Amino acid sequence: MDHFLYRDGQLMAEDVPLREIAEAVGTPAYVYSTATLLRHYRLFDEALAWGPHLVCFAVKSLSNVAILTLLGREGAGMDVVSAGEYLRAKAAGVPGERIVFSGVGKTREEMRIVLEGGVRQVNLESEPEMAALSEVAVSMGVEVPVTVRVNPDVDAKTHAKIATGKSENKFGVPISRAVEVYAEAAALPGLRVVGIDVHIGSQLTDLAPFEAVYAKVADLTGVLRAEGHAIERLDLGGGLGIPYTRSNEVPPLPRDYGALIERTVGHLGCEVEIEPGRLISGNAGVLLSRVIYVKTGEDRDFLILDGAMNDLIRPAMYDAWHDIVPVAEPVAGAPTRAFDIVGPVCETGDTFARGREMPEVGEGDLVAFRSAGAYGAVMASEYNSRPLVPEVLVDGDHFAVIRRRPTIDEMIARDSLPPWL
Ligand SMILES: *Cc1c(COP(=O)(O)O)cnc(C)c1O
Repeated sequence: MDHFLYRDGQLMAEDVPLREIAEAVGTPAYVYSTATLLRHYRLFDEALAWGPHLVCFAVKSLSNVAILTLLGREGAGMDVVSAGEYLRAKAAGVPGERIVFSGVGKTREEMRIVLEGGVRQVNLESEPEMAALSEVAVSMGVEVPVTVRVNPDVDAKTHAKIATGKSENKFGVPISRAVEVYAEAAALPGLRVVGIDVHIGSQLTDLAPFEAVYAKVADLTGVLRAEGHAIERLDLGGGLGIPYTRSNEVPPLPRDYGALIERTVGHLGCEVEIEPGRLISGNAGVLLSRVIYVKTGEDRDFLILDGAMNDLIRPAMYDAWHDIVPVAEPVAGAPTRAFDIVGPVCETGDTFARGREMPEVGEGDLVAFRSAGAYGAVMASEYNSRPLVPEVLVDGDHFAVIRRRPTIDEMIARDSLPPWL
């Protein structure tokens, strides 16, 4: 459920008509709903209320400092995958004890930044990385809590580009080698083993892969404890999917996911961490865009929008579906027409949808891409020298710009000439 609904003929973000935001901020623009973000975070928090837990928001899905501040004040932890994300979480006032540092290639410089500012744990992904963290921790005279990310070789049954838990993926160490790798970690100075980490992929629409993986994690907990490791925390990753279409596809609910976690690892007495991104932020955002032209082609019609692949790359990158709806509510039963919905960028890949049935929309009309809160603004670029898309946060009947659109002059001013030109 989200808070983008039609009221009095207008698509609203909570109690603000999206049209008002478009007029104030221009298009394209991302618009987020506070109520939806909080609701989704709380669903996870409640789903794990049966035991000690921390819901760490996956910052990579939506990293605006205002969003992190909102969730951080609600008590959320943060899962970060770079020094940049770590510093964003800190800028949002989230204490280090609630920040988990993940990622497959952490540099020594990033490790230093995170150890200096304080961190709940570092999730290690390889032996060389383990050695590097040990060196850095020793040089700084600190001991850092760590887990090892195990790769369980389980098929998450999701898009290949966002599956991370198969043996051919770059992530983690093979679960079959876990005993060896944990022994190495325990022997390294500056590291303190506190738990196990796993994350098998994103946009999972079935609980079965989670069940298989968490059962493996439970077994591994027993094995590692028998080896003398203090396994007190289980970081079970993120990945729960959301409905992107109006079809009947119903992804699992956080409540059922929480019950599954209780069933598979609840008896171990561990603190549970999860790292949801998409399910918290995905349906909490829309990309607002305006029709520039309606172009009648030889065998198809094109809806040319002012939003493009550089603003929302998911359709080009993952063949992702986003519902695209007019901001002015279509009359019930009004005829529809098939469009290829595209942006102005000079690539055929700049196509959001092909043959999409749309109610009649024309030049200047506003449309909204639904479920665009996660992996939307964070993946935006300035390709074609299009200014980075701005972000707006709505709370009830008011809204604020939380990242403004840069001017073209600002973009150009970032470039500099070498001395010989
Ligand atoms: C991407 C990622 C997540 C979040 O995934 P969602 O599908 O957005 O929930 C969590 N943990 C790690 C390590 C990730 O790489």
